[in-house]
Amino acid sequence: MRVFRSTRRAFLNWTNRLLAGSGLAAGALAADSRQEPEGEDYYEKLGVTKIINAAGTYTALTASIMPASVQAAVARAAKTPVRLAELQTAAGEYIARRLHCEAALVTDGAASALTLGTAACMTRANRTAIHNIPTDLAEIRNEVIVQKSHRYDYDHAIRNCGTRFVEVETMKQYEAAFNERTVMAHFFNAAEGGAIGREEWVRVAHAHGVPCFNDAAADVPPIANLWNYTEMGFDLVTFSGGKGIRGPQNAGLLLGKKELIAAAAMNNNPFSDTVGRGMKVAKEQIVGMVAAVDWFLTQSDAGMEAEFRKRAERIAAQLKGIPTLKSTIALPDVAANAVPHLLIRYDPQRVKITPEAVMQELRRGSPSIELNPTTGKVRGGGLPTDENTIVVGVWMLQAGEEDIVARRLREVLSQAAA
Ligand SMILES: *Cc1c(COP(=O)(O)O)cnc(C)c1O
Repeated sequence: MRVFRSTRRAFLNWTNRLLAGSGLAAGALAADSRQEPEGEDYYEKLGVTKIINAAGTYTALTASIMPASVQAAVARAAKTPVRLAELQTAAGEYIARRLHCEAALVTDGAASALTLGTAACMTRANRTAIHNIPTDLAEIRNEVIVQKSHRYDYDHAIRNCGTRFVEVETMKQYEAAFNERTVMAHFFNAAEGGAIGREEWVRVAHAHGVPCFNDAAADVPPIANLWNYTEMGFDLVTFSGGKGIRGPQNAGLLLGKKELIAAAAMNNNPFSDTVGRGMKVAKEQIVGMVAAVDWFLTQSDAGMEAEFRKRAERIAAQLKGIPTLKSTIALPDVAANAVPHLLIRYDPQRVKITPEAVMQELRRGSPSIELNPTTGKVRGGGLPTDENTIVVGVWMLQAGEEDIVARRLREVLSQAAA
């Protein structure tokens, strides 16, 4: 790859020099990217493969692409220094106004919001906690109540504060779990199980004077979720900045009660003796997060859904005629990634390739395409999938990419049906 690229670069330079004499160089061929106002293409320089994201807002795939207005705001913010704390405060106040909550903090992603929000709950009663989290907790309350089915990988971000989880399954256990060490009740918004619903969860915690956190990181659209849970009474709610909202990948929103957001800010950088010191969001990304909220609020749920359906239908139309192949469009039945996905099924006796192998083929091809990772999985991400289902996540595709995905799928599947 690298050899090919540098050879191509050398060829372009050589042809440009040749054409320069004839006055054709400037637009006739791709000019050396170093001279382009957009800057040098460092993916190319580093030999990093650019991909088509037919998966979704997955962290490992860099999640989302910022809309042009957000990219421009980021680039503009990069040109001028400001005072970081002033920017954090102003951005939080602006976002709180737009999202109808008391207060907000731009965090280094939703995982950081989990850590800072937990630290806030621990410091609410005891300011010295700020300097002692996560190692010196003898004097500090640190129990977090959670439903057993709401335990997940991301709760490591809560444990980063030195907390201890108290797991409950029934309402009776929940009621009995509160004690003088309880600091927070945690809820995973997109959980598939759990006997206790959101409103009940909040009601019981508040009856014990304990704040409730709802992790809704991947749970927009619908847009109104940005205020649904704070309005429901959750004291803290987080969303990833770089998923559906399409802000910077290392930004997120912590929304909630004034007192707790202020405590979260005290546990955050620029203060150095805090658990949040390593969770810095640079001025560019703070501004990018605000701009992304502005952009997202110009969208509509119906408009987004129609656009994603159109893309899915366009791919499905180009797969017509492949023996036994059937496509459907489905939304997950959990709160996360609630957008239309394209599901493709066929008889593996007739089209002799597994969905997993199709995913590998598209990854290996040029351009390299990533299909949704629930491909070939049973009930992946709340979608009605099985071992014989290919899943195309269409919502992060860029203009025209659905046709490339359709062409590659058609090539690979037709060949396997031959
Ligand atoms: C993605 C995700 C996170 C982490 O979000 P980041 O913004 O990448 O830090 C946390 N919780 C859930 C449920 C998520 O889906």
